[in-house]
Amino acid sequence: MNCPVMKKCGGCQLLNLSYEEQLSFKQASVIKLLGKFHHVDEIIGMENPYHYRNKVQAAFSLDRSKNIISGVYQSSTHRVVNVDNCLLEDETADRINVTVRKLLKSFKLLPFNEDTGKGFLRHTLIKRGFKSGQVMVVLVSGTNIFPKKKQFVNALLERHPEITTVVWNINDKHTSLVLGDRFEVLYGTGKIEEELCGFKFRISPPAFYQINPVQTEVLYNKALEFASLKRTDTVIDAYCGTGTIGIIASKNAGQVVGVELNADAVRDAKENAKLNGVKNIKFIKADAGRFMLDLAKEKQKIDVVIMDPPRAGSDRAFLSSLVSLAPERVVYISCNPETQQRDLFFLVKNGYKVRKIQPVDMFPHTKHVETVVLMTRNR
Ligand code: SAH
Repeated sequence: MNCPVMKKCGGCQLLNLSYEEQLSFKQASVIKLLGKFHHVDEIIGMENPYHYRNKVQAAFSLDRSKNIISGVYQSSTHRVVNVDNCLLEDETADRINVTVRKLLKSFKLLPFNEDTGKGFLRHTLIKRGFKSGQVMVVLVSGTNIFPKKKQFVNALLERHPEITTVVWNINDKHTSLVLGDRFEVLYGTGKIEEELCGFKFRISPPAFYQINPVQTEVLYNKALEFASLKRTDTVIDAYCGTGTIGIIASKNAGQVVGVELNADAVRDAKENAKLNGVKNIKFIKADAGRFMLDLAKEKQKIDVVIMDPPRAGSDRAFLSSLVSLAPERVVYISCNPETQQRDLFFLVKNGYKVRKIQPVDMFPHTKHVETVVLMTRNR
C-alpha cells in the first residue's frame, strides 16, 4: 500500500510489507519472545485492515504558504504533516477534519501557535461509534475565547449531519497532552454510545477506549474463552479502564471486581455497569498492585484474574500478591510482549504454567502486537 506521508509520519512502520507479511512478522516476534513458554497460536488478523481507528486526533497548523493544515506531528518533531486521508483512521473523521480546516478559513480563525500564544484551534479529537454510528467532535483551543461559537458549530453540523455531539475543550498550557481540563458541551450529550460484545458503553472525551472496535471483540472473546468462567467464580478485572472486560465477563461470573487507577475511568466504569443493569460487579479506584496486596492479606478467595496492564507491564507487588492469592486461572492481555515475557517468567517460576498464547492484530501496519495468554496453577 502507498501513503504519501508514510516517511514523515512514521506511524505505519510496516506499510512496506503486504498484510500477510506483516502478520508473519508479528507472529515471529511473539514466538521469539514467548515461544519458550508454550506453542503460539496463529495470529488473528483483520479481514479489512484499513480505517480501523475509531479515535482520531489531529493537530492544526499553518504550512509555509500560510495554508491551514491538519494531521499528525512529524515523528520526533512538533511540525505538522498534512493528512487528508489516513489508511488507519476512520474516514468520516478524516472528512470532518478537512471541513474544519475550511471552516477555520471562512470564519477567519487560525490554528493556535504555541510560540506566540496567538490563534485558536490546537487539535480536534474525533471518536466514532463503530456500531452506533455516533460521532463526537472535540474542538481543542489554545485560548478561552471561541469567536462565533454558535455559527461555527452550526456550520459544522450542516456539513456533517452524522455528528451527534460537539464539545469544546480549552488547553492553554504548554504541554504535549491534547486535552486540557475545561470542557463545554456545545451540541448533544458530550458522549457517544458504543456497543461491544452485546453491551453498551458510554464514551466521554478523555476516557480510554480500545481504538480498534472489530479486533477488540476478537480479543475480548478470546480472553473470555480462556477464562472459561463459571457462575460461582469470583473474578478480578485488573487495570480495567472503563470496565469493558469486567462488564462483559459479568454475565458468566458470580462476582466481578474491577480495579483501576484513573478516577475518571472508574466513574465511567460505574456508569457503564448501571447502563447495562449489571449488578454483580464493583469497581475500586486503586493501584492494582496495592489492591492485590490487600486482598492477599485478607486471604480472599479469587478464582480468575484477568489482567490488562499498560505497556510497562505489571509490578512486583501485583505479581507476588497474585501468586499468594493463587487463582486457578490467570488471563494476561498485553500490548507489549517484552514486558509480558518478563512478567510470565516470574509467574512461571512461582507456580503457574502457560497454557495458551494467542496474538491478535489490533494495530495493522504498525509494529504493535497484542497477545492474550492463559495460565493455570500447577497442581
Ligand atoms: N482493560 C481496559 C484498559 C486497559 S489500558 C480496556 O480493555 O479497555 C490499561 C489501564 O491500566 C489504563 O486504564 C490505566 O489507567 C490503568 N493503570 C495503569 N497503571 C495502573 C495501576 N498501577 N493500577 C491500576 N490501574 C492502572
